[in-house]
Amino acid sequence: MEDTKVTLTEKEIPTAWYNIQPDLPVPQAPPLHPGTGQPIGPPDLLPLFPMSLILQEVSQERFIDIPEEVQQIYRLWRPTPLHRAHRLEKALDTPARIYYKYEGVSPAGSHKPNTAVAQAYYNKKEGTKRLTTETGAGQWGSALAMACTFFGLECKVYMVKVSYHQKPYRRSMMEAWGAQVVPSPSLDTQAGRNVLAQDPDSPGSLGIAISEAAEDAAPREDTHYSLGSVLNHVLLHQTIIGEEAQKQMEKAGDYPDIVVGCVGGGSNFSGLAFPFIRDRLKAGKKTRFIAVEPEACPSLTRGLYTYDFGDTAETSPLLKMHTLGHTFIPPGIHAGGLRYHGMAPLVCLLHDQKVIEAVAYHQNAVFNAAVTFARAEGTIPAPETAHAIRAVIDEAMACKASGERKTILFNCSGHGLLDMAAYDAYLAGRLEDYAYPKEKVEEALAHLPRR
Ligand SMILES: *Cc1c(COP(=O)(O)O)cnc(C)c1O
Repeated sequence: MEDTKVTLTEKEIPTAWYNIQPDLPVPQAPPLHPGTGQPIGPPDLLPLFPMSLILQEVSQERFIDIPEEVQQIYRLWRPTPLHRAHRLEKALDTPARIYYKYEGVSPAGSHKPNTAVAQAYYNKKEGTKRLTTETGAGQWGSALAMACTFFGLECKVYMVKVSYHQKPYRRSMMEAWGAQVVPSPSLDTQAGRNVLAQDPDSPGSLGIAISEAAEDAAPREDTHYSLGSVLNHVLLHQTIIGEEAQKQMEKAGDYPDIVVGCVGGGSNFSGLAFPFIRDRLKAGKKTRFIAVEPEACPSLTRGLYTYDFGDTAETSPLLKMHTLGHTFIPPGIHAGGLRYHGMAPLVCLLHDQKVIEAVAYHQNAVFNAAVTFARAEGTIPAPETAHAIRAVIDEAMACKASGERKTILFNCSGHGLLDMAAYDAYLAGRLEDYAYPKEKVEEALAHLPRR
């Protein structure tokens, strides 16, 4: 009988994050100032972020030590288990070996606390008293609310209005951890008031909520802003996932031929994949990497690779990334965490260099995979995670057709226990497959910054 779960002792938990920047095949294009169009420097970011995170954003150091205080909090739920999905393999009758790293065991139910705790720590250390942020479905807001309470920081969350009303329990979680939550667009900021003046019924979007949270933080001495994905330092903190997975795969006596993750802003995918990408870039491994996104918000598969704003109010630095346009408001798919117009610049660079592949799926195919997984492995995955599972099942079925015995590893980024309304809709046959919103994207791409 082979093991179904590989774990590590607390002593075996990695004590450094992996920074992929020195190992990139080509240098990263610098972020540009939204006003001048010139590359920004650390001082431009100081109103929003503590210096230690700004330095991590541009660091060329390959490994960065995880502070002892952060390691201690990680140990509340880390190491996370690496599962061998024997029962799913059997259900699919595939010769493939399927493994998943399960991040749903964190108190917030996803991978997001890995960076929330680190960001709260560095802010606290540099004297920040209060953090603001945005959240879509609520996973990021709840992770940051928890991290802030650990370090005695105030937390204000601008929550995309549709989710605020659709996902009341995520809001309750944030409030239970002591955060203040307002629906975005709100009357608390100029960015919010501007949107409401044009459209009082605006459902909100991540781009709008980011504008609000950043506007709240920038002028205030005691307040910083915190972002849950996309930026280099966020992806860095998530590499604890892949560093653990490497040790666990070694214990299992196996190594992945394919690594899969869903991508919203790119952080959970990168967290698992980057240490294995290091092996491909530096040690000649041939592993394939597949990033999976929704057909309704397909930034990697259909977006333009160009400079764009990270937010709707055009206040953020310009990032070179795959984008659907910063004014694009994606359809209301249930995988709220995947509804972002852009993508992590590091993921985009690796995609452009053909290190990473990308695929997109419709919601019904995704929920079909989620239910197959739940019936085989028990765990009910988050709708975001289910995108990865769809791709894994398709790869496993390709192995069945070809008879190849590949090893597939994916990031099971979170559980779906607060997303049961979405499962309800799927099981009742009420889930809509939004066609790729071609006209809306073309309209948004017409508003890219002129350079
Ligand atoms: C937020 C979230 C995602 C998408 O964000 P990434 O930064 O791309 O990882 C995926 N899965 C879960 C469970 C999430 O909460």
